[in-house]
Amino acid sequence: MKKIFVLAALCAAMQGAVAQDGKQVVQDGIVVKPLKDGLVRNILAPEEQINQQSAQQYTSLMGQAREKGALVPSDDPQVKRLRAIAQRIIPQTARWNPKAKQWNWQVNLLKSDQVNAFCMPGGRIAFFTGIIDKLKLTDDEIAAVMGHEIAHALREHGRERQSKATGTSLITGIGGAVLSAWSGYDVRGVANAAGQMVVLKFSRDEEREADLVGLDIAARAGYDPRAGIALWNKMAALDERGAPIELLSTHPGGANRIEQIQDHMNVLLPLYARAKGTSVERLPAYRTNLAAR
Ligand SMILES: [Zn+2]
Repeated sequence: MKKIFVLAALCAAMQGAVAQDGKQVVQDGIVVKPLKDGLVRNILAPEEQINQQSAQQYTSLMGQAREKGALVPSDDPQVKRLRAIAQRIIPQTARWNPKAKQWNWQVNLLKSDQVNAFCMPGGRIAFFTGIIDKLKLTDDEIAAVMGHEIAHALREHGRERQSKATGTSLITGIGGAVLSAWSGYDVRGVANAAGQMVVLKFSRDEEREADLVGLDIAARAGYDPRAGIALWNKMAALDERGAPIELLSTHPGGANRIEQIQDHMNVLLPLYARAKGTSVERLPAYRTNLAAR
C-alpha cells in the first residue's frame, strides 16, 4: 500500500516536472542564488543596524496608527485572514534566507485607502485596507502580494539604500518621514515637505526577483501562483482607470512583468501541484473574481 502511494507520488512529481511546452524542468522551483554579502556591503549597511532601525520604525508606525484609530484590531476577520496566510508562507522562507528562522514575524493591517503593502527587514509586514478592498484580493492574490513583499526582505533588496534612507530620516527626525522611508505611508495624514519624504524604491532587477521568489514561496505554501498574473492584471486595470496605486511607485515592474511570471509557470505550477498533492495536469483552471474592472 505504501509502495503504491510512493510510486503514485513519484509519477505525479515527474509529470509536474514537464512543462506544457514539453521542455524538461530540472530545478526545484525558482533557482536560489546566494545572497550578496560582501564586506563593503556590511560596512555600508550593517545588518544589525538595519534590523534595529526597522524594528523601531515598525513599532513606531503601528503605535501611531493605533493612536489615530488606523490600526485594524487583531480580532478583525481581515487581520485573521492575513495572519493565517502568513502562517502558511513563513515556513517556506528559510530556503531563501536561513536567518528568516530567527525573525520576529509580525503582520498588521492599516486602515488606509492606499493600494499598498510592505515587509520591512526582519519580517515586519503591513497591508493597507486599500489594496485588499480596491483589488478585491482573493487569498491566492494576497499570498502573491505577501510573497512579493517578503521576497524583498529575504533577498535583502536595496540594503544600501535602506541604510541611507533610515539614516537620512533619523537625522531629520520627522516621525512621518521616518516611517515613509519604508512604507510611503504618512500616518499623520498630512503631506510631507518635499525632501523629507524618503521613499525606498526597488530596482527593476529586484522587482523581477521579488515577483518570482514571492510566487515560489506562495506556491510551496499551497497558494496558486497563477494569482500573480491575476494580481498584476487587476493592478493594471485600476491604473488604467487613473486610480492612484502607491505600490507601483515603489515597485516599478514595467510592462513585461506578467510575461515574465507567465514564462516561469512551468517551474511554479509544479510547486503548487505538489503542495496540493496533485499533478499540474489535474489542477483546475485558475479563476479570479475579476472584480477590479
Ligand atoms: Zn517589489
